Amino acid sequence: MSAETPTTLSLQTAERLGAVRHACDRAAVESGRNGQDVTLVCVSKTFGPEEIIPVLEAGHRVFGENRVQEAHGKWPSLREQYENVALHLIGPLQSNKAREAVALFDAIHTLDRPGLAKVLAQEIDRAGRRPELFIQVNTGEELQKAGVAPAEADDFIARCRNEFGLEIAGLMCIPPVQDPPSPHFALLRKIAARNGLSRLSMGMSGDFEQAIMLGATHVRVGSAIFGSRT
Ligand SMILES: *Cc1c(COP(=O)(O)O)cnc(C)c1O
Repeated sequence: MSAETPTTLSLQTAERLGAVRHACDRAAVESGRNGQDVTLVCVSKTFGPEEIIPVLEAGHRVFGENRVQEAHGKWPSLREQYENVALHLIGPLQSNKAREAVALFDAIHTLDRPGLAKVLAQEIDRAGRRPELFIQVNTGEELQKAGVAPAEADDFIARCRNEFGLEIAGLMCIPPVQDPPSPHFALLRKIAARNGLSRLSMGMSGDFEQAIMLGATHVRVGSAIFGSRT
């Protein structure tokens, strides 16, 4: 017997999207917030148009990608077919890809060093496009992970604003896989609050409800919607 037909796949994807949306709304309401205050960033990395189209057809328009090249390869044509798509870059950004990233993305979640802040400021000026910027904080202080250390976050935020003239929307974190995520979410919220930042990009498939309870305004959910990545 062959695998599932495309129709079954789309139905599953649409159903899972509906379930995740519903869970986001419920978590928002339970924590005294409004479902509309939480943006569901549907993480479509590694998936092709055939998997993404059911999500677009279901009316969803906010997507996350972790590689500039991959996003560049698949989104321009999808954007011709579907209006008002917002693309979020959630993976590390090399300075030499800043120009392409500013042209393609509506939000960048991974600003984490002065060199990148500098080229982003130049590209934003040059292109006249202002993607929303999130600073990634390495809340678990993991060596292999990107992001500024929590102790350096205040200084880096101030430098982005004062030295590079960047408008910073919020903070982003990816908690260590082996840790309970909530203390990391709480730490990110605390750093954001003392720096007057209103947006928090935190929470993935396994923990987006906890993240919303702790103030997430953007949750980045992939496998809970698209199924597991191969
Ligand atoms: C892949 C990825 C996600 C989505 O992860 P899931 O567990 O599939 O929901 C979220 N954030 C970042 C930074 C990612 O790279």
